[in-house]
Amino acid sequence: MQLKIYNSLAGAKEIFKPILEGNVGMYVCGPTVYSNVHLGNVRTFLSFDFIYRSLTHLGYKVRYVRNITDAGHLTDDGDVNNDRFVKQTRLEKLEPMEIVQKYTVDFHKVLEMFNLLPPNIEPTATGHIVEQIELTQKLIEKGFAYESNGSVYFDVLEYNSRGLNYGELSKRNIEELFANTRDLDGQGEKKNPQDFALWKKASPAHIMRWNSPWGEGFPGWHLECTAMSTKYLGETFDIHGGGMDLKFPHHECEIAQGKACNDAAPVNYWMHANMLTMNSQRMSKSTGNYILPMQLVTGENDFFEKPFHPSIVRFCFLQAHYRSVLDISNDAMIASEKGFVRLMEAVKVLGNVTPADEKQSGFSIEEWKNKAYDALTDDFNSPVLIAHLFEAVKYIFALKDGKETITTKDLEDLRSTLHALIFDVLGLQTIEENNNEKLDQTLKVLIELRNQARKSKNFELSDQIRDKLLAEGIELKDGRDGTFYILN
Ligand code: AMP
Ligand code: ZN
Repeated sequence: MQLKIYNSLAGAKEIFKPILEGNVGMYVCGPTVYSNVHLGNVRTFLSFDFIYRSLTHLGYKVRYVRNITDAGHLTDDGDVNNDRFVKQTRLEKLEPMEIVQKYTVDFHKVLEMFNLLPPNIEPTATGHIVEQIELTQKLIEKGFAYESNGSVYFDVLEYNSRGLNYGELSKRNIEELFANTRDLDGQGEKKNPQDFALWKKASPAHIMRWNSPWGEGFPGWHLECTAMSTKYLGETFDIHGGGMDLKFPHHECEIAQGKACNDAAPVNYWMHANMLTMNSQRMSKSTGNYILPMQLVTGENDFFEKPFHPSIVRFCFLQAHYRSVLDISNDAMIASEKGFVRLMEAVKVLGNVTPADEKQSGFSIEEWKNKAYDALTDDFNSPVLIAHLFEAVKYIFALKDGKETITTKDLEDLRSTLHALIFDVLGLQTIEENNNEKLDQTLKVLIELRNQARKSKNFELSDQIRDKLLAEGIELKDGRDGTFYILN
């Protein structure tokens, strides 16, 4: 079986050849932890979780590194008023590292809710300041960077003059880039407007600052990913992923830094996940067209008519290929819910199917398996894979109705393949599994008792049930479809 991956650098699908046979080094740009992740961010991380699960299922030993940006992802101009961490610390009256901790915890909670596996290494930018200073020094020594007024910039023209090509990933032409940029950044510190900061001098108001050979400052955002990916995966590694919007300048800068430092391309396969839109508009905090994951799950929002379970959200996301734009809407979620319920029902039905001695049906498990794996290995084509799962679903219901038969061997094969694809590869969970079945049933009993208390106007008891559960971190919500709970 050959795995094909769409490489953004080549602009085409390529046969995947890892550097070390059987092993994959994969780096994905993580979140900037100064606010809650929105559902769009989740889509990107979920796409790479599916890719990670697929690679592992296909037999690769994967080292998956996803960073936490807790410094450095600032507006490039170094203006303290544009520093996202500084802004948020003022707004919330918290220390920078309190902000970092608060939103890192939130990020982990959200991803766990959608059943994302943790990466093997989750390094932070603040934990790798030394490495970033060393890289900056190396770039200065090699003539690719220069100091200016306590900041250090990467010299893009110098890079290109040595036969390298800044713009190779985003297919941008350096002359056009120069023509289209006005020098608003860097207060004239840069030789050229396209030069990007490796190290930025801290103004007196900057609270996140470190000592360096150039005075007190903080690292540039692009540099942290080069520092951490090199440290944990090597100077050249297999796969680098991130959202489409990171192609330029972030990933372009990573390539330049890697090539300038190590005389080698840092990444063999660049993978970019496409954006989530809501009602046909890109999801983004800045435009206000966004929803927090929890708001979709609790139903507390103005976009969707009912709450949707995290497993259904996950299923909805996987129904689109990671390279396609996915538009989330009420109708799309309702359709996904129907599909998800039918898929899970088929899994249950298959558990009760009895095999026949002889097979008469025209459904070939072998052929079906081949088609499913062809989809998976064709650049991780989840929608086509799911379409094949539904062929099996149709067959399973025909088995239930006695319209088809299956041999013992085929039944075992179908069960194990279906389970592996649904639960291990797509990472879906049954609603009961996601909620913890026993706990789910217990809480349903308590919700029922509370409803009865309310009906008989025993508000003391109904409030007691709600408050005692809340004290245990279980919040009851009265939604449009009745009461449900959230585990905090
Ligand atoms: P940030 O925390 O802003 O660095 O973003 C974290 C990740 O979410 C990046 O890989 C972005 O490309 C990705 N991202 C941001 N907005 C969207 C969106 N609307 N849909 C999908 N991914 C997104
Ligand atoms: Zn990055």
